[in-house]
Parts: sequence; structure tokens; C-alpha cells
Amino acid sequence: MTISGATRVLVLLGDPVAHSLSPLMHNAWIADHGFDAVYIAVPLKTEGAVAAIRALKPFGFAGANVTVPHKEAAAAAADRREAEVANVLRWEADGTLSAFNTDGPGFIDALAEVAPDWRARVKRVLMVGAGGAAQAIARTLSPHVDTIHFVNRTGARADAAALAIPNGRALRWDDLERGFGAADLIVQATSLGMSGNPDFEWPTANIRTGAIVADIVYRPLETSLLRGARARGLTTIDGLGMLIFQGARSFEHWFGILPDTAKARARLMAALA
Ligand code: NAP
Repeated sequence: MTISGATRVLVLLGDPVAHSLSPLMHNAWIADHGFDAVYIAVPLKTEGAVAAIRALKPFGFAGANVTVPHKEAAAAAADRREAEVANVLRWEADGTLSAFNTDGPGFIDALAEVAPDWRARVKRVLMVGAGGAAQAIARTLSPHVDTIHFVNRTGARADAAALAIPNGRALRWDDLERGFGAADLIVQATSLGMSGNPDFEWPTANIRTGAIVADIVYRPLETSLLRGARARGLTTIDGLGMLIFQGARSFEHWFGILPDTAKARARLMAALA
């Protein structure tokens, strides 16, 4: 990669960002296509993220990804937005800022890759977690399924997430086993099982035959939930799928081209190994 005065700059804004795999993924795609561009991660350590993002306009960045804790600020800073929470920004030729959310669609791409018949198979979803990622996935899945049950350590957050979508319901954490037994799709969207965080003894014996099990944690790539589900012979989806497809859709917003997701998986698996 040669960086010149004309090189277009894309940024990842969030705090923290040092652990992110996005620079590796996007810079490899940029090289695949021979674009004169570079993707860098910039920690945004401010309470005033809306003003900080608006102030980026004169710098001429080609686009941005936004991660925790600034996704709401990114949507608020934009002149037009798809949702109230955004993970992609694009500065337009007229100087205005557009905000997009590719997290939920990225999860659905990952689901469709592994289970192309998911629309026929999935009526009842169990969402484990009620944080930003759980809500983004639930918002996108909601129109395609009958019900989404949220189960979360903090029950009040599950209640709020359930109220935010028309077919949302809340379960108590004590009902986790029952929830596992009733779902066609289980999405693990908490940080449980992530390296450095506590793990959990998931009731995998309760999962219905034919159910699909997704874990959006990707460090480690094979979580204890996925291991248990695979031992049952169930269809599983690891956390790299969502990461790669949200990234591919981001790339398309900036460059107008969908990049090679299989190449990205090979590169990211090598980086995680
Ligand atoms: P978040 O908004 O901070 O939500 C965190 C969630 O994890 C909450 O539901 C929280 O429950 C739960 N949690 C945390 N520690 C817990 C524990 N010890 N026991 C039970 N529940 C616990 O974070 P997020 O952005 O939604 O991210 C959640 C996870 O998804 C992270 O591991 C993140 O790395 C991963 N993620 C992956 C992708 C991907 O592309 N694959 C994208 C985004 C996020 P409370 O409400 O009770 O605190």
C-alpha cells in the first residue's frame, strides 16, 4: 500500500478500537480492488461525540464505521439516517452526512449464508442479551419472524428491548431453559464466553432439533455455546459472519462494490488463530 497526498481515508470511530479487526478486513479489501484508500482506527474519547463527528466534515474523510459507545451519536450527527443507531457514515459530495446501520442486515446475511432456508425455519427467536447488538439484530429480524423473546441478566433491559419492536416479548433469566427449548433460532448477543469474560453453562440439551444457534462473540471463534450446539448436530453461526457481512455492506456504502467475504473470513481466521 502506498499512501500519497490523494489517498482517501476511512476511519473507525469508537472507544476502545485498538482490538478491532476492521482495519485488517477493510485494508485487505481496498488492496484487492486497487483503491487509493486507507482504513484507520481512531479512538474517540469524548462525551461530545455528536459535535466531534459533525466537526469531521471539513477533513474530507471518505467514510467511517462507528462502534461502541458512539453509534447513537453517529446517527444523531447525520443529516439523513436509516435508524437511530448507526455503524456506517458517508460524507456526500454535497457535504452532507448519511448514516446507515449494517449490523442487523449483516447478521441476516450470515444467517442466510449458513441457512438459506432460514425464513421457512425460523418463527420463534430467542435473543440472549438486550444490548446494542441484540437490539440491532432484533430490529432487522422482527418483520420476518413471529416472535422475538429477549432474555437478559438485567430484566428491565429485556423489557425495554421487547417493547421497542412489535413482536418482542421478555423472559426472565430463570426461564432461560424454557426459552432454549422453544426457539427455532437462538442468538447469543451478550459478552458471556468472550475471552476475558465469564462463560456460562448453556442449556444446549434443551434446544429443539432443527434449531439454528448463533453466537456473535468471535474471540474465541468456537464458544462453549457453539461447541454444545455442534455436538447436538445443530446448524451454527459464529461471530465472524456478522462482523464480515456488516463490513462488506459498509464497504459497499463507500465504494459501491460488495467485496469478497470468503477472502475476509480466511484472513480473519488467520488473524484470530
Ligand atoms: P452492550 O450493549 O454493552 O451489551 C452487553 C450485553 O451483554 C448486555 O445484554 C449485558 O447484560 C450482557 N452481559 C455482559 N456481561 C454479562 C454477564 N456477566 N452475564 C450476563 N450477561 C452479561 O454490548 P453489545 O455491543 O451489544 O455487544 C455484545 C457482545 O456482542 C460483545 O461480546 C461484542 O463483542 C459482540 N458483538 C459482536 C459483533 C459481531 O460483528 N460479531 C458486533 C457487535 C457486538 P446487562 O444488560 O445485564 O448488562
